[in-house]
Amino acid sequence: MGSGQVTDWQGKHVTVAGLGVSGVPAAKVLHGLGARVTVVNDGDDARAREQAAELEALGIAVRLGDGATLPDGTELIVTAPGWKPDKPLFAAADEAGVPVWGDVELAWRLRKPDAAPWLAVTGTNGKTTTVQMLAAILRAAGLRTAAVGNIGVSLLDVVTGEEQYDVLAVELSSYQLHWAPSLRAHSAAVLNLAPDHLDWHGSMEAYAADKGRVYEGNRVACVYNADATDKPSTEDLVRAADVEEGCRAVGFTLNAPGPSQLGVVEGILVDRAFVEDRYRSAQELAEVTDVNPPAPHNIANALAAAALARAFGVPAAAVRDGLRAFTPDAHRVAHVADVDGVAWVDDSKATNTHAAQASLAAYESIVWIAGGLAKGATFDELVAGAAKRLRGAVLIGRDRELIREALARHAPEVPVVDLGRTDTGAMLQAVQEAKRLARPGDTVLLAPACASMDMFANYNRRGEAFAQAVRELGA
Ligand code: ADP
Repeated sequence: MGSGQVTDWQGKHVTVAGLGVSGVPAAKVLHGLGARVTVVNDGDDARAREQAAELEALGIAVRLGDGATLPDGTELIVTAPGWKPDKPLFAAADEAGVPVWGDVELAWRLRKPDAAPWLAVTGTNGKTTTVQMLAAILRAAGLRTAAVGNIGVSLLDVVTGEEQYDVLAVELSSYQLHWAPSLRAHSAAVLNLAPDHLDWHGSMEAYAADKGRVYEGNRVACVYNADATDKPSTEDLVRAADVEEGCRAVGFTLNAPGPSQLGVVEGILVDRAFVEDRYRSAQELAEVTDVNPPAPHNIANALAAAALARAFGVPAAAVRDGLRAFTPDAHRVAHVADVDGVAWVDDSKATNTHAAQASLAAYESIVWIAGGLAKGATFDELVAGAAKRLRGAVLIGRDRELIREALARHAPEVPVVDLGRTDTGAMLQAVQEAKRLARPGDTVLLAPACASMDMFANYNRRGEAFAQAVRELGA
């Protein structure tokens, strides 16, 4: 079960590590192929028991409350992407010479011979948006496609299903890439790289290396962020990758593009990579105002999506039509309301500092609502960069102290309201305080730079609570 395609699953002992979004479908598919599947799961709660019962009814063995022991006879582990590489189960697998695949690797290996190629997107922020823009562009070109992967649509279902596709727009997380050693995309983009999930990967280098895996074996284009100043840059990752002969490095930039880049000239998105003569000519793709919302980070996403679509041979007009057809998912720089000259914007999806930085950069004068679970992040750079745009800040959530300290250091003039509470109802009070601080022309921006789980089930709930509070305030 090395690098080759597995064609005969009959009787193979496969251990699926982790129930849940990827584990349950993986177990079912493998069982359907004739494998002897055992699912191991750390937890033993009501939800796990329910899922276990469902699988056991099909004849799949499930071990709850023991995710550490390698079942006897295991020939392959298929793991949930979130399982950390330092878990004892993987040490045991390593010792026994048992390969470990993630959900994406499994999907990649189970593709049919004539399967659609993958256009892959990863990065710290903007993945979902970019993949959806990409799918919209491909659709506008008349191609049969779907936005899949780390965005709610199971790759496994798509590759094993009956529906035919011409090309797939695939969102991949760093975890999924870590566990997908043989994945080879047609073309791929790394949108940006900022410290995130370092507790999982162990170091920034390891995180970057896992993201960079997406470029391995690319056939047509490795799309990188030509504006990024962080090290390693996405361009460094392209250089480190082993690609197919003839595969090109294509940059995207918010400035005027050089040869082999896509960029922006006087409000127009321009392609100087996929044109006849990239030294002398350029192709207009769309206007900046075709991008929704036309904030700088989102224009970067649009350029990356356009680059991947162009790599696949999509005409310029389809880029424009696709971008116009695209509407962003909820809670991503979503305009909630204008009340008394103040704009209220929900970017609850800004769950890390890099994302919050992007939305803070998009407005001139901001009352910032922030806080939650910091996941080991520091806030100095974020706050220092945004300081002169801040009218005020309202802090919520467990780790708000960290943000308060950064504000004291880098923005001592900015009024700060520390609510000192972490219950769900705090959002209404936060909105009231923000209203008090805001002046006409300001934007009140929920861009927490933190995860939501200290106060809410997820970032959706947090954003809904914000929008609800804004509506109550308006009424
Ligand atoms: P992901 O799927 O990577 O989490 P999303 O498209 O869902 O990305 O966007 C997540 C958040 O990241 C958004 O709320 C937005 O504020 C921010 N964001 C989106 N695109 C970018 C980008 N290119 N650079 C920085 N931040 C971004």
